[in-house]
Amino acid sequence: MKVPLLDLKPQYKQIQDEIEPLLLEICRSQAFILGPKVQECEAAVAAYCGTDYAVGVTSGSDGLILALMAEGIGAGDEVITTPYTFFATVGAIARLGAKPVFVDIDPLTFNLDATQLEAAVTPQTKAIIPVHLYGQMVDMDAVMAVAQAHHLIVIEDAAQAIGSEWKGRRAGSIGDYGCFSFFPSKNLGCFGDGGMVTLRDAAKAKKAVILRNHGSEPKYYHQFVGGNFRLDALQAAVVTIKLQHLDGWTAARQANAERYRRLFAEKGGAAADQVVLPVAQTNRHIYNQFVIRAQRRDELLAHLRQREIGVEIYYPVPLHLQDCFHSLGYQQGDFPESERAAKETIALPIYPDLTDEMAEWVVASIAEFYAG
Ligand SMILES: *Cc1c(COP(=O)(O)O)cnc(C)c1O
Repeated sequence: MKVPLLDLKPQYKQIQDEIEPLLLEICRSQAFILGPKVQECEAAVAAYCGTDYAVGVTSGSDGLILALMAEGIGAGDEVITTPYTFFATVGAIARLGAKPVFVDIDPLTFNLDATQLEAAVTPQTKAIIPVHLYGQMVDMDAVMAVAQAHHLIVIEDAAQAIGSEWKGRRAGSIGDYGCFSFFPSKNLGCFGDGGMVTLRDAAKAKKAVILRNHGSEPKYYHQFVGGNFRLDALQAAVVTIKLQHLDGWTAARQANAERYRRLFAEKGGAAADQVVLPVAQTNRHIYNQFVIRAQRRDELLAHLRQREIGVEIYYPVPLHLQDCFHSLGYQQGDFPESERAAKETIALPIYPDLTDEMAEWVVASIAEFYAG
C-alpha cells in the first residue's frame, strides 16, 4: 500500500464546488491584485487568530521580511531565533543584513528553549522570532517576559501553526507580529504562494500595509522603501473558503495523532523503546507535522521509503551549520539538541484524509523494522 506524506486531492474534492465558481468569477472580473477579496480574507484570518489586524502578503517568507523591515531591523542589529526551523526564518534576518543569534531547542517540543533567551540578549538585540514548530506554540509567557524586560519586538513565525493555542491564545496574537504561510502543504494552504501578517497595533498595521506596496502612500509618493509583497485575489479567495473548513481538518489531524498513539501502544512491539512520539504541551496542537524521534533513523527512513511510505526529515541540517551561515562563526556542537533532533527526527503522514488502513500500515512497518 502506498502512503503519501501529504495528499491534497481528497480535500480539494470536498471544496471543489465552492471554490471553482469563485475562481471563475475572479477570472471574469480580471481584478487580481489586492482588492475586496484580499480584504475579506484579511478580516477572516484576523478574527480566526484573535487579532485586530491582518495584512495579506506574497508568502510566509515575505511576511517575515516585511515585519523585520517595518521595525527598521538591519545591519548592526541582532535577532534571536532557533537554528531548528525552516530556512526562511533565518534567511529573512540575513537578507536584511541583521545577525541571526541562535538559542538551542527544548528536546521535548523541538521549539526554542525560552529559558535560554535571556543569556542571548545583547545591546544589539532588536527582536526575537519564536517559531511554533510542527503546529505547537513556543512558551510565549517566557518569550514575552524577556521581550518586555529588554524592549524587544516579537515576531511569531506561525507558518506551521495557524489556530494553535498557548493558554487559550492563538498563534500570531501574542507577539507584535504573527507570520503565516499559505504554501499548499501548510494546514491552510492556497493554490500557489501566499501569506499573512497579523498585528495587534494599528500604527504597525498601517505601516505594514504601505510597505507591502513598495512603501507607496499616497500612490507614487514614497516615505519608505518597501517591496512587492501583495497577496492576490485568487489566493485570498481560496484561503477564505478553506478557512471555513480548517477546524474540521485540524480535528482530523488531532484524531490521526491520537490514532498513532493508540497504534504504537497496541501494536508497536519493539518500536516502543526505539521511538519517541511527539509531546503535546500546549492546549491546542494543530499537527502540521507528526514528528517522532527514532533510533537508527536513517535505516528506518530507507525501510519506510522502500515501502513507498511518505516520510520526511524536518530538518536534516540545523541552520547554524548551513554553508551560507558559515561567517556567523558557529560550529558543530554549539546547539547539541538541535543537532540531535536533525539526526533523530522523522515526520510521518498526518494529513486529514489519512485512512485507518494507512496509519496501521505505517505503524506495522515501523514495528517490523525494529523487530527484524
Ligand atoms: C513554510 C514556512 C515558512 C515560509 O513560508 P512560505 O510561504 O513558504 O514562504 C517560514 N517559516 C516556517 C517555520 C515555515 O514552515
